[in-house]
Amino acid sequence: ARKVSDILRCEAVVVDFDGFKALQGMNLTLRQGELRFLIGPNGAGKTTLLDVICGKVKPASGRVLFRGEIDLTRKREHRIAELGIGRKFQAPSIFPSLTVREHLEIAMRQNRSVFATLTARMSSEDEDRMAAQLKMIGLEAKAGRLAGSLSHGEKQWLEIGMMLMQEPDVLLLDEPAAGMTDRETEKTGILLREIARRQSVIVVEHDMEFVRNFASTVTVMHEGRLLAEGSVDEVQNDERVMEVYLGR
Ligand code: ADP
Repeated sequence: ARKVSDILRCEAVVVDFDGFKALQGMNLTLRQGELRFLIGPNGAGKTTLLDVICGKVKPASGRVLFRGEIDLTRKREHRIAELGIGRKFQAPSIFPSLTVREHLEIAMRQNRSVFATLTARMSSEDEDRMAAQLKMIGLEAKAGRLAGSLSHGEKQWLEIGMMLMQEPDVLLLDEPAAGMTDRETEKTGILLREIARRQSVIVVEHDMEFVRNFASTVTVMHEGRLLAEGSVDEVQNDERVMEVYLGR
């Protein structure tokens, strides 16, 4: 029987790009409140898997079950987002001439009806959420700053904050700490852990030190399939993983 605590379940997902199978029967189960790192050599299919989950790429076969019953592969990308799957791509997509606070306001209003968006002022509840969100992403002191003046790391956190404003159940992140300083990377890991207290997160990551420091469970992909899964120590000592990474 399927456990209620499974928020997402990818079953035998196959993706065919004009005859090239980027995913060849990938399986992955994500529990509620889990921070999962997805690793594997270039071309393993990690990004493609996130693309399938968020509906950007449609699989040739297989299913992605959300909350045990909703098959996401039959839904459109915008509908999947509405259902509670948030995707963040690697490149920042912020508006340099809007403030940090304005970004979060826009993200919050995207959830509401057009009428509410046009008329509503921020309720005190909205203000509380805004304050909590600014604090969580470490930008409390910079709420009134233009986003263009933020550091690379701060821009990434702002984007994560925008995702969170839409209250997704699952966050899909592609190398969230890429290009960050050591200190920013550390803060990002702490932020991801905090997010995973309530939501479920899948992070595609190449920085193995980051993975070692913050992962509880790691999924290793190779040639479009699940190669190994477990703790960082478990997968690092796995013969097949060593073979794939070191060519042994
Ligand atoms: P990873 O994220 O693990 O590096 P990707 O999911 O980006 O791997 O890619 C898996 C394989 O699929 C790669 O060989 C890549 O070249 C190929 N691929 C990805 N997207 C497309 C596409 N739109 N058309 C054709 N091939 C693609």
